[in-house]
Amino acid sequence: MNSADKKRIAIFGSTGSIGTQALDVIEANPDKFTAEILTAQSNDDLLIEQALAFSPNIVVIGDEKKYQRVKEALAATGVKVFAGEKALEEVASMDCYDMMLAAIVGYAGLKPTLKAIDNGKAIALANKETLVVAGDIVMNRAFEKKVPVIPVDSEHSAIFQCLVGETRNRIEKVILTASGGPFIGRKPNYLVNVKREHALQHPNWSMGAKITIDSATLMNKGLEMIEAKWLFNLHPDQVQVVIHPQSIIHSMVQFEDGSIKAQMGLPDMKLPIQYALAFPKRIRNDFPRYDFKKVSTLSFEEPDVKTFRNLGLAIEALNKGGNLPCIMNAANEIAVFAFLRNRINFLDMTSVIERTMERVPFIQHPTLEEYFDSDGEARNFAADIIKL
Ligand code: NAD
Ligand code: MG
Repeated sequence: MNSADKKRIAIFGSTGSIGTQALDVIEANPDKFTAEILTAQSNDDLLIEQALAFSPNIVVIGDEKKYQRVKEALAATGVKVFAGEKALEEVASMDCYDMMLAAIVGYAGLKPTLKAIDNGKAIALANKETLVVAGDIVMNRAFEKKVPVIPVDSEHSAIFQCLVGETRNRIEKVILTASGGPFIGRKPNYLVNVKREHALQHPNWSMGAKITIDSATLMNKGLEMIEAKWLFNLHPDQVQVVIHPQSIIHSMVQFEDGSIKAQMGLPDMKLPIQYALAFPKRIRNDFPRYDFKKVSTLSFEEPDVKTFRNLGLAIEALNKGGNLPCIMNAANEIAVFAFLRNRINFLDMTSVIERTMERVPFIQHPTLEEYFDSDGEARNFAADIIKL
């Protein structure tokens, strides 16, 4: 294969958990992919190391104070260096890549991803917050531009894989599996004393700090319900959650005839990452396989929304729509940030989100600008409650 046949990948958020695993996939498949753009917010050391190893065309360092250091470290290479928030959007609008892996965490991923869509680039979407904040606008633009949005989130990748060959068949519902996180079965009197170190220990997945806390509160599953609604064009009551602590079934689709398809495997994010990068092809690999001969039980139970109230709030946002998911997401980002800095306790996160959702004005059909404004208002309000 000559270099013209290789898919040129732009990894937005290359120093994170998803970003580094994506680079492992690219490294293992040098005949299929090149890393064309790499971006990081503050980890200049790792960004420099990645640039030296993968020789991308461009790197972006978010923190402008680190520009000089990155520039000097890469002076002897041909790598172009940019810095700052605006540079992410400028680089996303360039023509030198084929697919963006959207692996920035949080609301910060929205604007560069929109630029990539406007630029007609395929999206491999890890950044679920993009769809939580402005799913209608993002999916409509992707539709208009004929841009594929291929999920990287393991549950949505599972559903996407189950839907291959089913384009003409109606989905009755999707069933998102959830591990339940480290506090499954616990009650509020326990949760109130949970500390950040404990909440950062996830039983099945090793991930970035924000999504690990979201998994412990079950907010992650709530964000994923909203993500599923937009990705697969579903009505809120077609999205169901079931706790499956072993994380072997990654999610399921139920069709109109009652038939249910599931996608299974050992929990390893490299699998959905490589599936999204290579779609529609599958790539051979040597990752460990799930073995049915080993004693194992797959179990399922209802989520406890009375204890894990963040999931209840997310279901309310899913049902009500408009800017409510955007408001909820912003308040959650502030609350998680405060919890990670030991400013509030585990259960306070829920009250910050709930109060912000009650307070910021509801808009049924927001414009993109109104989503930006709602995000800002919700952040200010949530930060005020916490006195950040
Ligand atoms: P992470 O914290 O490990 O990495 C985040 C990346 O985004 C880093 O490269 C960081 O430099 C960059 N970043 C952070 N803040 C930024 C900002 N303000 N502007 C620009 N760049 C910024 O996060 P992660 O766990 O890799 O998750 C990334 C996204 O993928 C999240 O939306 C998460 O929900 C989703 N996701 C992650 C996993 C997983 O296994 N880690 C699984 C499913 C979905
Ligand atoms: Mg997931």
